[in-house]
Amino acid sequence: MVINMKNKSIWLDIKQKNICRSLDKDIEVDVLIIGGGITGISAAYQLQNKNLKVCLVEQNEIASGVTSKTTGKISYIQENIYSKISKYHGIEKAKLYLKSQLWATEEIKKIIKENNIDCNLEKVRSYVINNNSEKYKEELTILKNIGIHLKESKTLPNNETVTNAFYVEDTYVFHPLKYLYALKNVCLDNNILIFENTKIISIRKEKVFLCRTSNATIKAKYVVLALHYPYFLFPFIMPIKSYIEQSYIKATLTNQNLNFSSITITNPVSSLRYHEDKDKIYEISLANSHITCLKNNDKNNFSELINQSKKTPIYIWSNNDIMTNDAIPFIGSLNKENNLLIGTGYNTWGMTNGVLAGKILSDIILKKENQFINLFNPLRKMNIGKILNFPIIVGSNCYSFLKSKLKKQKNWYSDNVRFESRDGKNIAIYTDENKKEHIVYNVCPHLKCSLIFNELERTWDCPCHGSRFDIDGNVIEGPSNYNITYKE
Ligand SMILES: Cc1cc2nc3c(=O)[nH]c(=O)nc-3n(C[C@H](O)[C@H](O)[C@H](O)COP(=O)(O)OP(=O)(O)OC[C@H]3O[C@@H](n4cnc5c(N)ncnc54)[C@H](O)[C@@H]3O)c2cc1C
Repeated sequence: MVINMKNKSIWLDIKQKNICRSLDKDIEVDVLIIGGGITGISAAYQLQNKNLKVCLVEQNEIASGVTSKTTGKISYIQENIYSKISKYHGIEKAKLYLKSQLWATEEIKKIIKENNIDCNLEKVRSYVINNNSEKYKEELTILKNIGIHLKESKTLPNNETVTNAFYVEDTYVFHPLKYLYALKNVCLDNNILIFENTKIISIRKEKVFLCRTSNATIKAKYVVLALHYPYFLFPFIMPIKSYIEQSYIKATLTNQNLNFSSITITNPVSSLRYHEDKDKIYEISLANSHITCLKNNDKNNFSELINQSKKTPIYIWSNNDIMTNDAIPFIGSLNKENNLLIGTGYNTWGMTNGVLAGKILSDIILKKENQFINLFNPLRKMNIGKILNFPIIVGSNCYSFLKSKLKKQKNWYSDNVRFESRDGKNIAIYTDENKKEHIVYNVCPHLKCSLIFNELERTWDCPCHGSRFDIDGNVIEGPSNYNITYKE
């Protein structure tokens, strides 16, 4: 049997039927949501039918960013997050975080039921595995203290034996894109304005916010930044409060849906879930996670992932997420007027946290109380002494910047990628299978790191902060907000 491996996320195999037109004239709205991933769509959903004129803009298609490349688990046990939160903020905050994740899980179930959404939602048992007894015991103790009923086991349903594992029964997996495409249609039916292929290139605050696209201005009383990496906000010092983690994922055909998911408390992390659709069952596994600026030879990372099992994957892809240095996402208001809002930094748990952000941000706009506002406050101070990762991240960023400039990575590529200097500018040329040349500037517009070519997904990736561009230089993921397309 010949298997053609697809270099894209399994979820992107379905297409949305009704792409919304892009914005071509000035408009005025009450709320502008920038970004159409799980955060943006969830916020739009919570704001429908509230007597507000709400508009959502997405630079590409809805759900084409990080959300399209998730593993799609809906779980409140999340590696050793409760030990981390407890260490940084105390046990009461860990308890509140648990409450927020349970709330979000119920909310997703409720939304799916109320709107009759077919998105392969499945209840599964979730395992957390750790071979390091100390970390394992620490997380286990905290979880018991905050009231989670766990069971322990040394064997997984696939007969794999492990040193330590605990599990809960009430977690879920789903098809994230089927969920978001359906929710988009619900929003459209309820008069939310949605514009796709519409990118905000600047935001200026006067009496209201003036948000510019390339050919129109949106005036908005409230702006929700649901764009994953908020590059508009340098003073918000995202680089000091967070870092970016990249992981590699494959989906392989299998015979049996064992109805469980698992994740390890290790570095790098391994994760597993099953996905059953029509007559096919896939095992989706994730490995080789690393801070973007370390271990960033994509070719090696993909090869290692492929070689981990005898079966050839059907889908293979990579993804980045923002990790906060104190393990709590940034969700809430960025100013005293409570009209510039953000939801990001989900530490690779954005299905629950994105839905939660939709609720918290809409409650702030609607001036309603919400018990989670203080916990997630994006402007909270971080105690640098407690942030063990900080020096490592700054050091790795500098290392990565210098390494990218020395272009040591050149020898990673096959002959269809070459680097040149034209008019004093560094450019990179990718020649495709039809011998067409795709030319880009080989510098990330964000902080000027040189880019690495990800041959499997055919993207230019920034080794420092994770921006990604297609072969023609269009930005797919921030922090960069600018393209790198070469202009003669
Ligand atoms: C490998 C991996 C596995 C994961 N697995 C899980 C999991 O199993 N369960 C889980 O809960 N979470 C998981 N996550 C985390 C989760 O996928 C993310 O946290 C979440 O999808 C982020 O959603 P978002 O809406 O914030 O970002 P995005 O989905 O990236 O949405 C932001 C959108 O904003 C748009 N945008 C950006 N700039 C502009 C602009 N200027 N104008 C207009 N639009 C703009 C982008 O195009 C994008 O579509 C995983 C993450 C990774 C990296």
